Amino acid sequence: MKYTYPTYQRYQIEPSTGQGSQLTATNGKTYLDFTSGIGVCNLGYKNPALLAQVHDQVDKLWHISNLYENDLQDQVAHLLVGAADKQVFFCNSGTEANEAAIKLARRVTGKAGILAFTNGFHGRTYGSLSATDNAAIKTGFGPFVPDISFAPYNEQAALAQITPDLAAVILEVIQGEGGVVLGDPAWLQAVNQKCQATGVLLIIDEVQTGMGRTGSLFAYEQFNLDPDIVTLAKALANGIPVGAVIGRKAFAKDFGPGSHGSTFGGNLIAMAAAKGVLQQLTPDFLKDIKAKGQEFQQDLQANLAALPNVVAVSGLGLMAGIQLTDKLSADQVVQQLQKVGLLTLTAKHNVLRLLPPLVTTTAALHQGISLIKQVLQEVPYESISR
Ligand SMILES: *Cc1c(COP(=O)(O)O)cnc(C)c1O
Repeated sequence: MKYTYPTYQRYQIEPSTGQGSQLTATNGKTYLDFTSGIGVCNLGYKNPALLAQVHDQVDKLWHISNLYENDLQDQVAHLLVGAADKQVFFCNSGTEANEAAIKLARRVTGKAGILAFTNGFHGRTYGSLSATDNAAIKTGFGPFVPDISFAPYNEQAALAQITPDLAAVILEVIQGEGGVVLGDPAWLQAVNQKCQATGVLLIIDEVQTGMGRTGSLFAYEQFNLDPDIVTLAKALANGIPVGAVIGRKAFAKDFGPGSHGSTFGGNLIAMAAAKGVLQQLTPDFLKDIKAKGQEFQQDLQANLAALPNVVAVSGLGLMAGIQLTDKLSADQVVQQLQKVGLLTLTAKHNVLRLLPPLVTTTAALHQGISLIKQVLQEVPYESISR
């Protein structure tokens, strides 16, 4: 690509059509996809019901701005909050959702401090990037938003840093970009309790873990947490840009008319897609994903954990990380897997990250794991260049 900034190192493959959990590229090859467009197309490609619902809205109206009533937006918000005493703000991406969450927390509490965690990722705009702990993506972009500090993830010592002068604590229940690092359930509970005891709001970033990825609508449900604010994006509309902030209804007075906004946020096309996604994530569907996810994790452990180049296998539901030894780069494995027809991701700490569409069959999940096993056993590879 010649006319776009080289902010991404791209693989020399151009997917042009998809079906279910498979992508076909302009090179004529069909790939099994374990990326979901980085945790986005969770319900697969050309999902028939979603296609029909989005087509229908494309023919009706695309955008009306937030100056007018938008019943579709309210329906999606209702599907997200259910019977809980919560309300929703819509935006267009994960970073915007976290940006809005930080703004809301500061306004609600009248305090400024935000405590984030080591190895966390919350996005690329200033507020979210300031709460992200990854030197590689922050270099040269400072100064950052003031009053954002960090505590060690999964460590007892972090609890002492949750003090009443903070507006909020922001965390991922499973750190995705950080290498699929699972939060310790007891530690997460302790963080939640300390927040409640100190009057500090708890923001849970479910941008990657939400929308069924881990076997429940939100991952925090499996850890029995009670966040004040939840942020969503990625899979919420299966590929149409959207983000959302879910917060307590009591915060409504601090998000009153004119306080915050977004031209595109809650756009009709995105809402039609999000409504379709939420309609498919029924309790029965989620139960199936949970069972399929357990099988997937067991299959990964059984086949990969003991291989010489594997340090550890981690994950929950259909989200997994395979940490490799220094001898083998995860990016090299990704490219080798492309040659045998499987698309995968990397994450920090030399992790091979897997985010297959939730609609992937157990047989296809197993097939992907077999390919990974095969490729991990084939090293050393001939030199690979992009
Ligand atoms: C991807 C991601 C974001 C950023 O989302 P964008 O839509 O790229 O802005 C934020 N938080 C987490 C946990 C993510 O995985």
